[in-house]
Amino acid sequence: MKVLFVAGDPKPERWTRPIQEHLPDAEVIAWDPNGGTVNADYAIVWQPPAALFEREPGLKAVFNLGAGVDGLMALPYLPPELTVVRLEDAGMSAQMAEYVLHQVVDISRGMARYRDQQAEARWQIHRPTQRHQWPVGAMGLGQIGQRVARTLAALDYPVSGWSRGAHQLEGVTTYAGTEDLDRFLGATRVLVNTLPLTEQTRDLIDRRLLGKLQADAVVINVGRGEHLVDQDLLQALDDGRVSHAVLDVFRQEPLPAEHPFWRHPSVTITPHVSARTLRDTTIEQISTKIRDHAAGRAISGVVDRSRGY
Ligand code: NDP
Repeated sequence: MKVLFVAGDPKPERWTRPIQEHLPDAEVIAWDPNGGTVNADYAIVWQPPAALFEREPGLKAVFNLGAGVDGLMALPYLPPELTVVRLEDAGMSAQMAEYVLHQVVDISRGMARYRDQQAEARWQIHRPTQRHQWPVGAMGLGQIGQRVARTLAALDYPVSGWSRGAHQLEGVTTYAGTEDLDRFLGATRVLVNTLPLTEQTRDLIDRRLLGKLQADAVVINVGRGEHLVDQDLLQALDDGRVSHAVLDVFRQEPLPAEHPFWRHPSVTITPHVSARTLRDTTIEQISTKIRDHAAGRAISGVVDRSRGY
């Protein structure tokens, strides 16, 4: 069995060596842009070039080095029948839950006021947080959304979740499908986007959607930049309909220096770091799946190409 590693890491041996240790019977090869066909059975990819699919028509599956496959799905040269497998959690859901919790606590407890006061050596106590005033709504109840929802619910925030199909989650009020979207939004003050980017979810967070949230809304986007209509968010922030936005993902990354988000007083920006790919956990997960797939066993995380996630 041959496994090709095709990601733009300048030191591919950081990946190929441990993958080889996990798959001692396989031949693990780093992609050579100037090389020829190696007759690979599997490829582990991040933003692969068209040449991969021209040179390697015998691929049985590609394993994406990320949970979101929108970039891969957008490649016009991705063979339509090829099995695509995404990362499932792989240590990302805990990071994401931690990131969202941090932001929700920071905002709901008004921690910025205390940072400002410290700069002036001022001792002033503000009213405590009333959790019922901060209902959180997770858009997407997959690997990441569920962990986010459960984490906040465990700290007694009222939590709702919205997904395509119906889910039951202890301590979380769940909604499903477009027909339930407005009810979900009406129950939500802090909107946390953990959706995958598909044709159905692109531009979903627009003026109409933002207008359905509870007053003084907060938007936390950790899904993809293309979920959000930037101008509509800026308008909602300026109208006071949305009081704060925390953005980790953007339509263009790196976010251009002239983008108004950078200097907006009510926007918190992080450079796509809310959940990083953890190499060891990722290698272990993908190696196990390659072994199972090669042995004819069913594997999870196979992307439904018609749904796009
Ligand atoms: P999953 O596939 O496990 O979950 C996706 C969830 O979204 C599911 O609950 C699904 O519903 C729901 N969903 C999909 N389409 C729709 C729709 N049209 N309407 C309503 N709900 C919908 O994905 P993950 O949780 O693993 O990851 C989610 C996304 O998070 C990734 O695609 C990626 O874009 C983003 N991400 C961002 C990172 C970052 O660093 N900022 C890091 C990792 C991921 P159902 O359950 O019914 O199928």
